[in-house]
Amino acid sequence: MAVVFVALGSNLDNPKEHIERAIAELRADRRLHFIAASNLYSSKAVGPGHQPDYCNAVVNLSTELKPESLLDLLQAVENQHRRVRVQRWGARTLDLDLLLFEHITLHSKRLCIPHPRMHERAFVLIPLADITGVDFYIGDKSVNQLLEKCVDRGTVQRLAV
Ligand code: AMP
Repeated sequence: MAVVFVALGSNLDNPKEHIERAIAELRADRRLHFIAASNLYSSKAVGPGHQPDYCNAVVNLSTELKPESLLDLLQAVENQHRRVRVQRWGARTLDLDLLLFEHITLHSKRLCIPHPRMHERAFVLIPLADITGVDFYIGDKSVNQLLEKCVDRGTVQRLAV
């Protein structure tokens, strides 16, 4: 079994509902073992033009799937939410990013692990720390050290349940 972390983000069509539904779908999938989910957060969009705020969360799972098969599963869940890829970093109904897969480092055509931008995104690191704590290390830096350098840190707010 590989222990993995997945980030969820949505900023279209009632984002909180998309995130809650996606978490329920991951929980229900028999190929995954659900370990924990973070709180839900809102964050300001980084990317082109004006975009609605995001809802973000992170989940911790374990699975016997290989990384590429897990990516297939995550992309199938994105497609169920009718995610439309209009432009890179544009608005989306659901974005699922595979953050960490055990301790592996992978750079294939489809998949980079650890996720290459997770280190600079407070909207990923803050929910991740709900599960791992801020002393969790990603490479040679703790979540706490990484968060100090995140320019979006102030835009991430915990949502009421
Ligand atoms: P994005 O639009 O930012 O969600 O990027 C989606 C693309 O990133 C997909 O085509 C994936 O093949 C690729 N990708 C590379 N690494 C990852 C990762 N760790 N998690 C999810 N998608 C990834």
